[in-house]
Amino acid sequence: MPHKKQTKLIADVMVGKLARYLRMAGYDVAYINDADDDLIIQIAKKQGRVVLTRDTMMLERREFKNGILRSVFIMDDSLKDQLLQVKDELELILEPNLILCPVCNNLLEDVEKKSVKNKVPLYVYETRDDFKYCSRCGRYYWRGSHYDYIKEYFRRLNDNLKRG
Ligand SMILES: [Zn+2]
Repeated sequence: MPHKKQTKLIADVMVGKLARYLRMAGYDVAYINDADDDLIIQIAKKQGRVVLTRDTMMLERREFKNGILRSVFIMDDSLKDQLLQVKDELELILEPNLILCPVCNNLLEDVEKKSVKNKVPLYVYETRDDFKYCSRCGRYYWRGSHYDYIKEYFRRLNDNLKRG
């Protein structure tokens, strides 16, 4: 299976949740709450990003018609189907990792265990050793129950795709 971790994306305002899930698999997905089509296209061109959109008007833009920009027109309402479509069209690998902050797309940093004391729940502190930190939003991440949930979510999704 081709590994395309380097694929960079930008999501329009209608697929914010999809953006967060793709970030949990380590994909760099730009997302700006109130971005209009012009801004999305400008950023996509400048940073070489594939545009994820549910907006048919957006796809009328010349940048898509003449092939300067690549897009994935997201067809479905359900997150699961959206993920399957994007995975399929862009050949992404959906496995959770702690590379990017799902909230702000910032690269996560390793932090010393002792520095997270009192910043994460005590049970987590006592049972985990590896912690990551987002210097933009100040959140901490670790391989706990949420990570396991996402891992299982992606596993089911991948199984689903195999069965067609
Ligand atoms: Zn963050």
